[in-house]
Amino acid sequence: MKIVTSLSDMHSLAASIRREGKTIGIVPTMGFLHEGHLSLVRRAREECDIVVVSIFVNPTQFGPNEDFGHYPRDTEGDRKKCESAGVNIIFMPTAEEMYPEKPTVFIMVEGLSDILEGAIRPGHFRGVATVVAKLFNIVNPHKAFFGQKDFQQCVVIKRMVKGLNMDVEVVVLPIVREKGGLAMSSRNSYLSADDRRAATVIYRALSAARDLFISGTKEPEKLKKKMRAVLFMEPGVGIDYVVVSDPETLEPLDTASSNIVLLVAARVGKTRLIDNLIIP
Ligand code: AMP
Repeated sequence: MKIVTSLSDMHSLAASIRREGKTIGIVPTMGFLHEGHLSLVRRAREECDIVVVSIFVNPTQFGPNEDFGHYPRDTEGDRKKCESAGVNIIFMPTAEEMYPEKPTVFIMVEGLSDILEGAIRPGHFRGVATVVAKLFNIVNPHKAFFGQKDFQQCVVIKRMVKGLNMDVEVVVLPIVREKGGLAMSSRNSYLSADDRRAATVIYRALSAARDLFISGTKEPEKLKKKMRAVLFMEPGVGIDYVVVSDPETLEPLDTASSNIVLLVAARVGKTRLIDNLIIP
């Protein structure tokens, strides 16, 4: 396994891999890797000759009062996990090389970037789309692997790839959960034992709405009411939003539809958590 930090080294390495006729899969991450990330790595391992995991805590996707400064990091742990998962290259650029000057060039995916997470985190998806485009340009992957955990991010990236005719196949993989149903996330490390238990209510709320839907209640208003009622049972959990949306456009639905995604963002103590469930 190679660890590459320089952009030009990564760029020429990718070019030589392509010259050999090999396929490249990228798994973009911010590190502090867990089973969710590793599920993406394993799929990339199956589908591509060379697996690149990028580890970069991207400053431009954090708001001024967010957790950029104390986002969890564990370079040595990440290295070991990547090595045993069969990663070929860890690409760990520095912020100085990624952004040598104050960035002035951005990618904006209009319509999708200012709703839901984007409404609460202004500029977040502009930062995400821009850094993913930069990683695609540097690593030149055939396929890129993302988790459904960040559902809106997946929709934004797919729209960017289509809109800019990027020659990358975006693969979205299911959410990996802890035993109690909590979606794995690097930010779960902020949770106390009590918070962690309280946070399992999010998956219970999503599951309750899914069960209601399956038993015939299709009206989005009733599904949202159910999710809110379950979330209210945990007094320490604050709701940022609860929506029933179209999985392709993320538009909130107010009439019943057969293909929906339930999305929840909630605060447990000081930690913001997001989760979702697709009902096909
Ligand atoms: P992050 O390091 O949080 O930026 O996540 C990197 C990638 O891993 C993103 O595509 C995430 O959606 C994905 N990911 C994070 N948590 C999970 C999870 N619990 N299950 C599946 N994928 C995940």
